[in-house]
Formats: sequence, C-alpha cells, structure tokens
Amino acid sequence: MDRVDHAQHRLEVARLLARYSPAEVAAWDKSETMPDAVIASLAEAGLLGSFVDSSHGGGGRDALSFGLLCAELGQTSMSLLSIVTVHSMVIEAVRLSGTAQQRDEWLPLLAKGHKIAAFALTEPDFGSEATGIQTTLIPCDNGYRVSGAKKWISYSVKADVLLVFGKLEDGSPVACLLPTDTEGLRITAMRDLLGFRAAMLGEIEMNNCEIPAANVIGRKGAGISYVAASALDLGRLAIAFGCLGAIQACLEDSVSYAKKRKQFGQSLVQHQLIAQMLADMITSFKATERLCMHAAQLRAAGDPLAAMETATAKYFASTHAVTVANLAVQIHGAVGCSASESRTERFYRDLKITEIIEGSNQMQQIMIAQNGMGEFLKSALTRKRLLSGNK
Ligand SMILES: Cc1cc2nc3c(=O)[nH]c(=O)nc-3n(C[C@H](O)[C@H](O)[C@H](O)COP(=O)(O)OP(=O)(O)OC[C@H]3O[C@@H](n4cnc5c(N)ncnc54)[C@H](O)[C@@H]3O)c2cc1C
Repeated sequence: MDRVDHAQHRLEVARLLARYSPAEVAAWDKSETMPDAVIASLAEAGLLGSFVDSSHGGGGRDALSFGLLCAELGQTSMSLLSIVTVHSMVIEAVRLSGTAQQRDEWLPLLAKGHKIAAFALTEPDFGSEATGIQTTLIPCDNGYRVSGAKKWISYSVKADVLLVFGKLEDGSPVACLLPTDTEGLRITAMRDLLGFRAAMLGEIEMNNCEIPAANVIGRKGAGISYVAASALDLGRLAIAFGCLGAIQACLEDSVSYAKKRKQFGQSLVQHQLIAQMLADMITSFKATERLCMHAAQLRAAGDPLAAMETATAKYFASTHAVTVANLAVQIHGAVGCSASESRTERFYRDLKITEIIEGSNQMQQIMIAQNGMGEFLKSALTRKRLLSGNK
C-alpha cells in the first residue's frame, strides 16, 4: 500500500465523517449516547475491521491505514474513536490468539460490524495491576461459569459481546467471549464522566454466566501476558493516532480563531505570546505525527520493535495532546470554555482520558524506561569501544 493509497483512504474516511456536523458531535457528548446509525455507517463503509484479512470479511488494510482511520476518528470525536478502538482490540485478540475455527466464526461477524465488541479487563479493585483481576471461570458441563465485576468498560452498554478477562481455578489468567445477552450478566451505564462521554461506558456484574468452552480465546495462562497485551498494543496505536487527529483539530480551530479574533486592534495571531502557543502546538503535532507514523510502519513491517515504539508514541501523543488542548482553550478564551461555541472544551476533557487508558502513562513510562535502558547502555558501550579504537 503506497502513500497515494493511504492519502486516498484518509480522504474517504474524512468525507464519511464530515457528514456529522460539530453540533451533532457535541449532541452525542451532551446526551452521553452514540447513535447506532453512526456505528452502522462505519460498518457499512468497512471501517470496523479494516485491518482484518479480506478472507475473513475485513478490508485487508495495513497498520498505517488503521492509524489514519483513528486520526480521522479522533479529529471528529474521541468517544467514537474509543468505541472503534475497543472493538478493534477484541478483533485483534481473536485474530492473534483465536483458533482457526474461532477466527472463521468471529472475525467476519466483528469485521463487518454484525456484532460489536467491548474489552472488559479493568475491575473495581484492579486497573494498572491487571494480573490481580478476580473474575473467575469455573468449569461446568458445557464450558465455564463466569463470575465477577468489571468497571469502566467502554461501549459495554451497547456491545453484543464482551472479551472478558478472568482466572481459572488454578489462578491462570484466561480470556473469553461473553455475549451480552447471557443470563446472569448485568450492565449499568456510567454517566457524568470527565470525557469520552458518548463512549457509553458500563459497570458489569457477572453472576454464573455460562459460556461454551469454545468461547475461551487463547492459551490458558496467557490471558493477560499475551491476549490482553497484544490487544492493548493495538489499542495504544489507535489512541496515539486519535490524539494526533485531536491535536490537528485543536490546531486548525485555534489558528482560524486567532486569525479572526481581534483584541487591542490586532488579530490574536499578531500577538507574539499567542504565536508562541501556536508554535508549541505545531511542534507537538509534527513530533507526534512522526512517532505515530514510525510505530505504524514498524507494525506493518512486522518489526519486533513496533510495540515499544507504539508505547512511546502513545505516551508522547497523549501528554502533548493534553498540553495542546490546554493551549487551544487558552487561545479561544471564554469561547473555549463553552461546548456550544467551540470543540476545544470537549477536546480538553477528552484528551485527559488518553493519559489514563490503554495502560496509564506511568505504565508506559515504566515500560519505555525498562526497555530503553538496555538500548542506551549498549550504545554507550559501543561508542566507548569505537572511540578507544577497539572493534
Ligand atoms: C473513559 C475510560 C474508558 C475506559 N475504557 C476501558 C475499557 O474499555 N476496558 C477496560 O478494561 N478498562 C477501561 N478503562 C479503565 C482503564 O483501563 C483504567 O482506568 C487504567 O488501566 C488505570 O487503572 P485505574 O483507573 O484503576 O488506576 P490505578 O491503577 O488505580 O492507578 C491510579 C494512578 O496510579 C498510577 N500508578 C499505578 N501503579 C503505578 C506504579 N506502579 N507506578 C507509578 N504509578 C502507578 C496510575 O498511572 C494512575 O495514575 C477506561 C477508563 C476510562 C477513564
């Protein structure tokens, strides 16, 4: 897939999303609801499984195309981005960890949007410490009975199926698909969140929910270390690109507003302190774009370094997106504080969430430091050897 293909794909996504006016997107946020028709329009355009092989009903597109889709979604609505992200993460879990039979059964349903999925890892008492989860899977005649509680699960209020993470009797972590119409399952909508308000988060109670053994995804024991980890890796790529799109939206709005708005006889852009803010925002955009593109290209090439570069991109993109949204509100003044007058108010709230989800930024920092230290110890030794003349 070349640059022209990617640019064309992004344009098509942008055209599709342009049908939703800023006022409409603001209304989703206000009503804390994502209209079914919006998800249906993405499904119809083949955007809910764009990276799935065409043999399994997907678009057969690469990681960069997926990233660009996420950038456009983020530019439109971070809530919508998060719904596509969790659905994609479940697809990724089935794609990488499912058996051939599970892939044949689930991938076409998910990729075509006939079933929408949510990713249920976090529990009331275990967030960053995912290995502590207490949901249980107890064997029964036909498979397993799943019991426990999940919290903060995006789109669980509407999803058809949840990828639930729990533990077997011997404590080994495992992942399973749990249809939301299963008896014993109760999902309560979570409202009044700081951001991602239209992502329809839910709190979940599972009381002896019976699933067939065929719904267990991945190896027993690898539920967190591989199934969740590989899905979260894709989630981080989505969030990083989503932040890139949101940064672009904040910049476009800020530049337009600062050119139009006059104070002290000059447009805001002519005030140097405002230009300084714009310079910082532009720099953040350019650096974020390069990190995101690099991570996506490594992923597309199947490079083992992709996961670390993705963590770095997610960490950088989310911290810079928070700063950029803050500056965007500052440039807009009071207008930036009103949901009915600008989008920046929403981005300011939504982008803070990106520092917490798909592994909080402290978790990314720990990972980046642990992995990066080896790289720089090695480069220091190599340099020393080269400078001392030893090969
Ligand atoms: C809008 C939204 C959507 C979400 N969607 C989903 C979803 O779809 N599915 C899902 O499973 N979860 C979801 N979550 C939950 C999210 O994944 C968790 O909030 C996240 O993993 C952090 O866990 P926690 O909130 O329990 O914070 P905690 O783990 O309690 O951490 C609290 C703070 O302490 C820091 N911290 C924790 N441990 C360390 C450490 N060792 N060193 C330094 N600092 C540390 C964290 O970085 C954080 O800043 C969502 C959350 C939000 C807000």
